[in-house]
Amino acid sequence: MKADGHIHTPYCPHGSTDPLEDYVKRALELQFTEITFTEHAPLPSSFIDPTPKQDSAMNANDVETYIADIEDLKKKYKSEIKINVGFEVDFIEGYEEETIHFLDKYGSAIDDSILSVHFLKIDNDYVCVDFSEDAFKTITSRFGSVENVYRAYFATVEKSLLANLGRYKPKRIGHMTLVQKFQKQFPVTEDFKDTISSLLSSIKRLNFQLDYNGAGVVKALCKEPYPPNWVVDEAVKRNIPLVYGSDAHSVNGLNQGFQQLIYKAALVSPTEG
Ligand SMILES: [Zn+2]
Ligand SMILES: [Zn+2]
Repeated sequence: MKADGHIHTPYCPHGSTDPLEDYVKRALELQFTEITFTEHAPLPSSFIDPTPKQDSAMNANDVETYIADIEDLKKKYKSEIKINVGFEVDFIEGYEEETIHFLDKYGSAIDDSILSVHFLKIDNDYVCVDFSEDAFKTITSRFGSVENVYRAYFATVEKSLLANLGRYKPKRIGHMTLVQKFQKQFPVTEDFKDTISSLLSSIKRLNFQLDYNGAGVVKALCKEPYPPNWVVDEAVKRNIPLVYGSDAHSVNGLNQGFQQLIYKAALVSPTEG
């Protein structure tokens, strides 16, 4: 079993235009036996995307075509690889109702999905933590310190775990330490061990899987997977299912970070873990 539970597609406006089928062909070359396409689910219609081009997620009008395209590939490659329809769903504090609405509408078509935090709420406004190092700098001054941004990030992940998002709530937490994306430029003086350990306890108690995300490894200012090794150690001790995620936004991004993961033997299939 070699699975990738976190793959973006040409439907992503900040990704590449690489055709969907090319991802499948490349995944076969890399000997993956299962993949989930997890495009960024459309943001709630009343939410204003804080990124400059407002291109954080797929267009709501494309959802049905997206699902149909994956269903076609699923059939075509049935004997070679298991392909899942999925979404990376944003947890946005204060937009839970609209998120439930999306999940209720499409949940029956979803095989596997991820719940991720990219946006943090501050003073009735929202910021995107992973957009760029410049934007991150502005965010740290709004929150007062890098440590405060970390605190807000982990608190939001905790809220995402506890949130009522209806019967189709995703069962996997995306890149739980994404706030470390620019860590080489914005070091912190705390290790957040207690906070992260308590998050892991919630993840275990609530039966979530963890996205063991290789994208951070290839980010020049991160150089580590999300989450890093010590967190993975703790997760393995607690028997939390780990699902590799390349978080590829291009065909070339498939398999990224995979070689650097510790505990490859502990990786599970996204639909069987
Ligand atoms: Zn993306
Ligand atoms: Zn993400």
